[in-house]
Amino acid sequence: MARLIIMGPPGSGKGTQAEHIARHFNIPAISTGDLFRAHVGKQTELGIEAGKYMDNGEFVPDSITISMLRERLAEPDANAGCLLDGYPRTVIQIGALDEMLAARREQLDAVIELTVADEELVDRMLRRAKEQGRSDDTETVIQRRLELYRDETRPVVTAYSQRGILLTVDGSGERESITAAAIAAVEKALAG
Ligand code: AMP
Repeated sequence: MARLIIMGPPGSGKGTQAEHIARHFNIPAISTGDLFRAHVGKQTELGIEAGKYMDNGEFVPDSITISMLRERLAEPDANAGCLLDGYPRTVIQIGALDEMLAARREQLDAVIELTVADEELVDRMLRRAKEQGRSDDTETVIQRRLELYRDETRPVVTAYSQRGILLTVDGSGERESITAAAIAAVEKALAG
């Protein structure tokens, strides 16, 4: 049982890493980006609203994001723990998560931060744009997403670092070795 978060700039490979790390700990990987994309695909009311922000690389407003996550965490598979991917991205979202966990008498075990150099991030995202055709992977939108990460999400990383639960993992290199390093860091934190 583990309650984890994975953070990292867009293009850092956090989605892929989240899948592998979550499988190791036998917990669901919960990606707010994937939840939004599923809503956009089904053209739900939430999806139509969220899509307007996503296409421009902007954050979906906190209120929408927080209530969607609250619903997802209420599903039974999240009782045994989870790995959040792409949430929290703002300081407001940290507080909302703290409240959700406190209401369940749960707490976060660790926050994994993947670090990758900016130039490499842009290259990776442009490549992903070609492969997956994501509508938010154009150069202007990529720059905006990186800027938001710096301005809005770095403070989230700092907050978790101050709590003493941040595990920084080098996100460049082979997928397998990054996964192994992240798992080893989490296991050490869980044991300690
Ligand atoms: P991701 O797949 O994590 O890169 O997320 C794709 C897009 O979904 C982001 O660029 C945002 O528009 C939106 N999104 C995902 N998670 C959040 C969040 N926690 N807060 C606000 N917007 C989010």
